[in-house]
Amino acid sequence: MKKIGMKLIGIVLMGIISFHATGVLAITENELNSQKQQNNQKMNEVKEKEKEVQNIKDETVREVEKLTTQIGEYQSQINGLNTQIEEANQKIADATEKLTKAQEDYKKQEEILNERMVALYEAGETSYLDVLLSSQSVTDFISSYYLISEVAECDLALLEKIDKQKQEIEKAKNDLENSKNELTSAKNEKQKVANDLQSVKQEKDSYVGKLSEEQKKLQQQIDELQKDNVSIDQKIKQKQAEAKKKLEEEQKKQNSQSGNSGGSSNTSGGGSSSTQKNPSGFIYPVPSAYAKITTGWYYSDGRLHGASDFGTGGIAGQPVYAVADGVVVTTERLTTSYGNYIIIMHNNGLYTLYAHGQAGSIAVSENQYVKQGQQIMRVGNTGNSFGAHLHFEVRTSPGLYQNRVNPVNYLP
Ligand SMILES: [Zn+2]
Repeated sequence: MKKIGMKLIGIVLMGIISFHATGVLAITENELNSQKQQNNQKMNEVKEKEKEVQNIKDETVREVEKLTTQIGEYQSQINGLNTQIEEANQKIADATEKLTKAQEDYKKQEEILNERMVALYEAGETSYLDVLLSSQSVTDFISSYYLISEVAECDLALLEKIDKQKQEIEKAKNDLENSKNELTSAKNEKQKVANDLQSVKQEKDSYVGKLSEEQKKLQQQIDELQKDNVSIDQKIKQKQAEAKKKLEEEQKKQNSQSGNSGGSSNTSGGGSSSTQKNPSGFIYPVPSAYAKITTGWYYSDGRLHGASDFGTGGIAGQPVYAVADGVVVTTERLTTSYGNYIIIMHNNGLYTLYAHGQAGSIAVSENQYVKQGQQIMRVGNTGNSFGAHLHFEVRTSPGLYQNRVNPVNYLP
């Protein structure tokens, strides 16, 4: 089972590889470069978006931090209130205990007084009489009588005192309960605010999570685009290597065929020196009758043209020649821009581009070796062109527009 699976994977992989191989051949270097450009553009967009998400996230995180601080403050206030409530509860409990004791005392004292009063009453006249009789004098009687009533009065005073204490304790207890209720309602209010803040915080937290997720996705997109660019670069390199190999092989073949003669043309080195005219050995890309540059490196209005145009009247349909031996790296048929165009790689590190070729006139294919003077297409008016002409460029790198150099320094 496993073996079959491996085999299947192998077949699929082979399929992918061969598809890629033909893909590299089928796709032009220009297309690869424009793919890369598109990738870069998209990457910049995604990066911009990612930055935006990061900014929002940073802001939200700051808000969450603020909320956390606020919630912490509320929590410590609530904790303080809880401590106060606990203290109040303790005091209430104490007061309750005191109150119970005072009630007991009161009851006891009441009983004592009652007993005494009853005794006093029950004794009634007899007691009164007894006291009176046993008194040796009126003053003695009076003092004795008063002694008893004073005792009763003392009892009563004590009872009243206890009652007063009891009432005071009750009031204190009530006050405590009131303040406890106030504390509790303050605590509840704060708890409610804290809860609200907590739910806002939770929302923001989950928002941060979502943003992170989005960020991750964007980062993945960037990674994929970068990976794609790396593979595009590899393909470009592969194409260039293929073209170079082909060029070298063909050149070797030529040299061995023609012995040691001629050779000449390939003195390497860029044409920066203007005194050394035509160091690359290029010929004109059009028949000599039309080898007249009608628009040079700059347009008449001063804008950069970056090429040499051959647009002498009657040039339409004339052959376009390869200016030197080389390998065709691009053949393209566009309806805009260059129209039908060809890029050839030469073994001195230079590339030449021929644009606006007549529809259907491209006579070479990519990766084909061409000889100097070989017809590659016909002069036309395709793409962004007004009147038949050949737009001819020299580049130091194939796909890169910015690597154009003035063809005048390379032409005869
Ligand atoms: Zn032009």
